[in-house]
Parts: sequence; C-alpha cells; structure tokens
Amino acid sequence: MHVAEASGDLCQQAIAKMRSPFEMAIICIDITNKCDLACSNCTRLLENQEQFWDMSLDNFRTALRSLEGFPGTIAVIGGNPAMHRHFPEICKIMTQEVPEKKQRGLWTNNIFKHGAIAKETFGVFNLNPHGDARGVKSITEFMKGIRKPWYHGGHSHHAPILTAGKDIYGEEEMWERIAKCDVNQNWSASIVENKGQLRAYFCEVAASFDLARNEDHGVEVVPGWWRRNVREFEPQVRRFCPGCGVPAKLKGHMDHEETDTYSATNADIALKSLKKKRKIVEMAPGTQPGVIEHKVVHYSENLREGRAGRPKVVTLLDRIKRTMTGRS
Ligand code: SF4
Repeated sequence: MHVAEASGDLCQQAIAKMRSPFEMAIICIDITNKCDLACSNCTRLLENQEQFWDMSLDNFRTALRSLEGFPGTIAVIGGNPAMHRHFPEICKIMTQEVPEKKQRGLWTNNIFKHGAIAKETFGVFNLNPHGDARGVKSITEFMKGIRKPWYHGGHSHHAPILTAGKDIYGEEEMWERIAKCDVNQNWSASIVENKGQLRAYFCEVAASFDLARNEDHGVEVVPGWWRRNVREFEPQVRRFCPGCGVPAKLKGHMDHEETDTYSATNADIALKSLKKKRKIVEMAPGTQPGVIEHKVVHYSENLREGRAGRPKVVTLLDRIKRTMTGRS
C-alpha cells in the first residue's frame, strides 16, 4: 500500500473513535483573545496571536443562533470573556438568544466589575483564577450569593500544546494517540472570530492553531453546523491534529511560570511570542520527553465546591450535569 494511503487509513481509523460536536456536553464561543494572565502552554495560544480581537455583537448573535437546538452548555470563553469591551451587551444577547439560563455558561479567571450582570445572565460557571491573587479575590467575591459555589483552587499544570505529535511519534502511534485525545474526548468544539469572520472548529485547540498562524481553515457558522459528524471535519483533523501537542501529554509547566514548550513543526508559532519576551523551550529532536499520567490540563477534574474553608472536590462535567438536570 502507498504510504499516503496507509496514513489516510490511520487517520480515518482515528476519526472513527473521535467525538462529533453534537456528542459534546459543551460548545465554546471564544468572544475575545484578551486576557489578564499569560499562562504557560495556554490552550488558546494567546501569546502567539499577533493582534487583539473582540467578537462583534452581530457575530456573537449569529454564533448563538447557529447553536439553536444544541442541548448542552454554551460556554462563553476567551481569553478572559469579562475583558470583552462590550461584555454587558454580550450578556444581554445571551439572555435573548438562549432562553434556558442553565445552558448559559461563563468560563473566566477574573470577573472584574461584571459580577452582578454575570450572575443574572449565566447558570453555569467554570471559574479558574489560576492561583493569581487578584483573580482569587475577584472570584471569591463573585461566589458570594451563588448557591453551592465552586471554583478551581490553586495552580494548574499545563502540558505543552506546541510539541507536535508528528515530531515525536511514528504515524501509527501518533494517530492512536489522536484518537484518544483528552480535548476531543472531554472538551469542546468552538466558534471563534477569525479576521472578522465567524468560524467553527471540531476542536477548541484546532481553532487556536489557525488564529496563531493567521490562517483560516474553519467552517462557516451556519445554523446546525454542530450536528455534523466528526467525519465531515476530516480536513480539520488532518490539518491540525498531527501538529498538536495535546495527545503527547508531555510534562509542561505550571500556569504561572509563563513558559511554552515547542517542537520544530511549531517553531514558527513559538518564535512569534519572543516579541512579548515570552520564555520558550525547544524540545530537541530525539529527546525522550517526560509524560504525565493525568489529563493534559490538570485542573478540570478538580473543582472545589463549597464555602471558603470547606472545599470538596467535584468534576466539572458532573457539576454541569447537575445544573442541566436541576440538581445543583
Ligand atoms: S487539534 Fe489537538 S487537541 Fe484538538 S482534537 Fe486534534 S489533537 Fe486533540
């Protein structure tokens, strides 16, 4: 068999094991790439994007309308979504377009001055101040008055995103790992704004690669795009997954270390961040990388629930399920 054909088969075998957007509990809408933190190995590759952007309000409404009928959580994320210059209007549109409060999600590290409107608008929160003192203060204040408050306590380990699987493994192992990718199995599809245009991706990290490279391989955000089977996203899977570091699950850095690890395939992206004086570490060819046993971003399983001083560990997906079924 020709090498390209064999590789095609391996890709299709991997895709057969991957989740489609309609099977996911959450779909994300990235409304901004602005953030007050600069975490190591950020899944949004924020330090590698050249320009700041905020999703336009018209595009946000269109994005929400495209998700009509989606039964899960629609999560507004960024960057830090609370830094969108029209965050109150974003909340208003969210309320108009998504009648069920329990479907409206907000993922943030610091709510700034928007606590009151955020509480009115959203029914699901993923609060992660990443151990940052200002964020912890903001989130602690925000949680007052929320029934059964919960947040991510402490710092998080972030495995590298820019260590391409194709630089580390042979084709077979690479596609086997992609088939089991933590993000595909547990996280979300996403909608972003790319050069003013709305674009959808089967994977939130795939969208980050496009934005960091200033390219556009997203699909048009038409009503019901999320009902497509992952097989229909094969061009995105082929383009993004072999160059992505998530399935390798390598040892990375703690969020606050502000350090990214990369391999040759992604040197173009990593080097861009030097302008911002980012710390970057190249994984040399042939290195035997340290691997991790836990999920690629080590916090999503460990939410702290309960009032200050009485935290209890719960999972994000359990918490969302309880909200959707009215058991929160
Ligand atoms: S782009 Fe990366 S994170 Fe997304 S499904 Fe592919 S391998 Fe996983």
